[in-house]
Amino acid sequence: MIGPTRDYLRQLAAVTRWRLAQALALVMLGSLTEGLGLALLLPTLQLAGVDIGPHTEAGRYAALVRGALGQIGLRPTLALMLALFVAIVGARAMLTRAQSLSIAVLCEDFAQYLRERLFEAVSGADWLFICSSRSSDFVHALTSEVDRAGAAAHQGLYTMSGAAVAALYVGASLILFPAATLLMLAICAALAVALHARTRAVHRAGGDYSAVAAGVYAAAIEHLQGIKTAKMYGAQRRTCQSFARLTRNMAAAGIRISREQLAADAWFEIGAAAMMGVILLAALKWLAVSPPEVLILLLLFARVVPRVRGLQSTYRAFASLLPGFATIAGIQVRCRAAAEPAAATGPALELHSALRLEGVSFSYPGGPPVVRSVDLTIPAGRTVAIVGPSGAGKSTIADLLMGLIAPAAGCIRVDGAPLDAARALAWREQVGYVAHDTFLFHDTVRANLRWAQPNADEGELRAALRMAAADEFVARLPQGLDTVVGDRGAALSQGERQRLALARAFLRRPRLLVLDEATNSLDSENETKILGALDGIRGGITIVLIAHRLSTIRWADLIYVIEDGTVVESGDWATLCARLDGRFRTWCIAQGLAA
Ligand code: ADP
Repeated sequence: MIGPTRDYLRQLAAVTRWRLAQALALVMLGSLTEGLGLALLLPTLQLAGVDIGPHTEAGRYAALVRGALGQIGLRPTLALMLALFVAIVGARAMLTRAQSLSIAVLCEDFAQYLRERLFEAVSGADWLFICSSRSSDFVHALTSEVDRAGAAAHQGLYTMSGAAVAALYVGASLILFPAATLLMLAICAALAVALHARTRAVHRAGGDYSAVAAGVYAAAIEHLQGIKTAKMYGAQRRTCQSFARLTRNMAAAGIRISREQLAADAWFEIGAAAMMGVILLAALKWLAVSPPEVLILLLLFARVVPRVRGLQSTYRAFASLLPGFATIAGIQVRCRAAAEPAAATGPALELHSALRLEGVSFSYPGGPPVVRSVDLTIPAGRTVAIVGPSGAGKSTIADLLMGLIAPAAGCIRVDGAPLDAARALAWREQVGYVAHDTFLFHDTVRANLRWAQPNADEGELRAALRMAAADEFVARLPQGLDTVVGDRGAALSQGERQRLALARAFLRRPRLLVLDEATNSLDSENETKILGALDGIRGGITIVLIAHRLSTIRWADLIYVIEDGTVVESGDWATLCARLDGRFRTWCIAQGLAA
């Protein structure tokens, strides 16, 4: 508990600085007004006719306050004291308002800071880390966990505020009744130690809540992504049942937090009552405190005890929310460990002669090698096809070529210069990429295109659409370029989505265009149109085509056949088809493209 609390407070102080100072100053001022109210209590009681005796500590203190008022020219009457009370309560109300507002702003600021930094950290992590992580964990951290970490600031500051006020009361009581107060402090300390285990249990329950909530997020996102398939398999009921199980676990974790908190509150209540009993008994029997002083002591306790209980409660609420911050900090640490360089450091890579893989091997974390000692040359301005069965390693090779992942062994060279982590970012600026599963925003066609090239004018947008054989269908859409394509492009057919993605890639005027099974789900008419468009730009840019439908790659200048992570054949269409016992020829025959 101490370590996580320290980390949290350190970051809160580093981020909110003067806001935290302002909130704390308001907390202290609020406590001061509370203290002033308290200071007027004894003389007011005296003026109201309560005999507290002139020779007791309380009597001497009341005389001191009366003297202080006299010094500033005020004659202490009951009416003046009550008027002062009203003024102090009014000031306290205004200060409480300012303090609460300041804390609310601070919490929002802190949550916003955490959310932005976390988003940056996730975006800046390398592809390998991202693709081996559960994206719902990021969503969970960015939403629920950030909210919990922000709310922890709220509870933390209210704990401090509670502690400041309680300290005032304890201070006053220490002056008036030193022995009884010391006894109270000792019992309070014993209560705090006894309840520490409960606070740790609340913290643990908060951690469990984080874990089950992450599971609920994962299930919800997964289900929403696969809802069509779930419907087709009649799996809604099953999915709903397993989701209900997860939410029941989440509710149980939430209830456990409340149970631990309430149990601690109840034990505090019992402990405090016992404490008051012991102290009163001790005051009357052994410490010879007079009955009016006992009355004041009781009044003090009646105000101090609820505050200390509130202080403990807010601290436990803080402890239950702290794991939200731990989740965020954990993800940030992992993202930073996998961070890509923020900006290109070396000279930019230019593709004029060839892009080469030289003895490149790669394996995903914990897995076997999926690319093994691959040598491959992609001449600039040419169209190169990479073909092979599913799982052969084609997409992994594409990711290597684009600088998304780095080889475990061997080297990738652009015109002889190594494509290392420092230059990968700038290299990717020159690469256009269209994947099999197209990614579109829930926005207009125009916004989806401009996302790749924010400065593109109307003419460039239309030219890109024409090149991707998408101009006609976009013109037929109800609002043309301003039609909203639906969540992930749901309002379009897959072929239409892919042509939009192609247009988006063309807009960037890439030096290297990588199409990973991008024409897979197009009908032959549209495929012909796109291939025709690509044919039109041949020589201008370098194209890497990844395909298993061999008709798509007929016009490629060079074909690499990949099997089990290695290059098994290479050459142009005619050469490969002429190889009588060749793999490529066998596939061509299987796909009816050769006899
Ligand atoms: P292809 O594009 O030829 O179908 P891939 O390059 O996608 O093949 O995959 C090659 C191998 O790497 C497959 O066995 C696949 O299971 C594995 N693989 C692909 N992506 C990942 C990943 N993110 N984590 C672990 N293994 C992966």
